[in-house]
Amino acid sequence: MINGRTKLACLIGSDVSESKSPQIHNYIYDKLDINCRYLNFSLNENELSDFVTSVKTLKIPGFNVTIPYKEKIIGLLDEIDDTARKIGAVNTVKNLDGKLIGYNTDGAGYVMSLKNNKVDIKGKKILVIGAGGAARGILFFLSKENPKSIHIMNRTKKNAEIVIDELKNYYNDIEYGHYDDKEEYDIIINTTSIGMKSSDSPYLFTGKERAVVSDIVYNPRETRILKEAKDMGLKTVEGIEMLIYQAILADEIWFDTSIDSGVLVDDLKEIICT
Ligand code: NAP
Repeated sequence: MINGRTKLACLIGSDVSESKSPQIHNYIYDKLDINCRYLNFSLNENELSDFVTSVKTLKIPGFNVTIPYKEKIIGLLDEIDDTARKIGAVNTVKNLDGKLIGYNTDGAGYVMSLKNNKVDIKGKKILVIGAGGAARGILFFLSKENPKSIHIMNRTKKNAEIVIDELKNYYNDIEYGHYDDKEEYDIIINTTSIGMKSSDSPYLFTGKERAVVSDIVYNPRETRILKEAKDMGLKTVEGIEMLIYQAILADEIWFDTSIDSGVLVDDLKEIICT
């Protein structure tokens, strides 16, 4: 119930009208008795600075940031947490008594989604398709789990090479993977937006794969790469879980609390996908 003490949290991006974040956060607030509501605000780039001032004025406890402002918001914040600085992108901002601190919960949320599906990362050969903002956070957190190797494929090879160079500061066994290598991977991850607005797939299966296949695109819930993997009998992990986990991690940061995600994740998957 909204009352005189209800707080406001929100998501900003260029067009967030279709985002499922309000459903996720408001469900969490209802379940955990957090007196807050969550809304989406679509903003132009020239409105970012006024928005940041409003966050301080209205004492908004925190906000999320999505495409295309995850990098641009950094210059408007007072402090960046070490991990977000290394990743170079902020998706979560906490308002600590007027000081705005940037975090990145995308990569950690993604790794939590793999772990929730009992996917081991340690010692595994991983293929990451895509080298955009989301891939950066995912690669950083994957590398901390000691995989055997990570290959990146991307439409624009140069963009992948930039990401590889950055990650080499923390993890050595990473290189560009060629589409025709036909390596045997243990985990194949799509981080591109292919599959979101079209029925294309970012990966052509040979039929010999034994990998766990994961897509961070969550709309549609079952993208073509996931459907083809399932049809081949491969284990799959849906992007909707990453979305839920990154939201839970953001709420933990804003409200200084520890959230038991187990039941929440199962409930939320059903609620936001129906
Ligand atoms: P981004 O920074 O714009 O990166 C997009 C990536 O997709 C780049 O690697 C780009 O390759 C590639 N790409 C785009 N269109 C392509 C095409 N037609 N053919 C081949 N490659 C293409 O975006 P992002 O922030 O990383 O987000 C990527 C996707 O992840 C989006 O669909 C987003 O909704 C989803 N996402 C999901 C979650 C979640 O919680 N599940 C969180 C964040 C993002 P180039 O380098 O060649 O341009």
